[in-house]
Amino acid sequence: MSRTLVDSRRWIQQGTKLLADTLAGLDEASFSAPSALPGWGRKHLVAHLAANGEAIGNLVHWAATGERTPMYASPEQRDADIEAGSLLSGPQLAEWFKRSAMRLDSAMAALTERQWAAEVVTTQGRTVPASETPWMRAREVMVHSADLATGIGFRDLPADFLPALCDDITAKRSGAASGPALIVQATDTRHRWDVAGTGDPVLVTAPLAAITAYLAGREPHGVSAPDARDVPALPAWL
Ligand code: ZN
Repeated sequence: MSRTLVDSRRWIQQGTKLLADTLAGLDEASFSAPSALPGWGRKHLVAHLAANGEAIGNLVHWAATGERTPMYASPEQRDADIEAGSLLSGPQLAEWFKRSAMRLDSAMAALTERQWAAEVVTTQGRTVPASETPWMRAREVMVHSADLATGIGFRDLPADFLPALCDDITAKRSGAASGPALIVQATDTRHRWDVAGTGDPVLVTAPLAAITAYLAGREPHGVSAPDARDVPALPAWL
């Protein structure tokens, strides 16, 4: 995996701008439309993104001070905050998203090299150095830009972000080995990933953006499995 802290912080900025610009163009009716995520409207998704900025901010605070501040108080509290947030107006949500993103950016900008190396625990229970948190945030703002279902697709995300995301997802999928074995080959770049799993590996091909969407568990538009009848369905990744 070749991504750096500088890459991840740039991707946060790019994804945050993409989202903020998109939200600025939505009227109340568009805010109230469904997202691409099952059961979530766009408002749920924006509330989740704003709350996630604060949650990642808690990890940055932990790294800066040594005070143990987890991302969320509990899974129930996380869900309740998303539900409550989904009742806000579009402009209120856009403002909350922007405010939490700006606070997170200043908190990250203030971390010293030593603080970046401090260990924190994610909501999934993984112990990671704080330097992993910009990647966690970049992933959220980028992938959920597409989940907003306003016309942004994985093809609109930065070209160097896509292989970094595929590296991450294929490593996680191979580690879990709970899905089908795959050989994933991009048709428009030279990227290729092997995913460990059950059965003989199925070759899956598509342009890189479609491959990334597929690996992330999104609609596999334009993805084909030349030697198999169907593109294998994948279990959840996060
Ligand atoms: Zn998310």
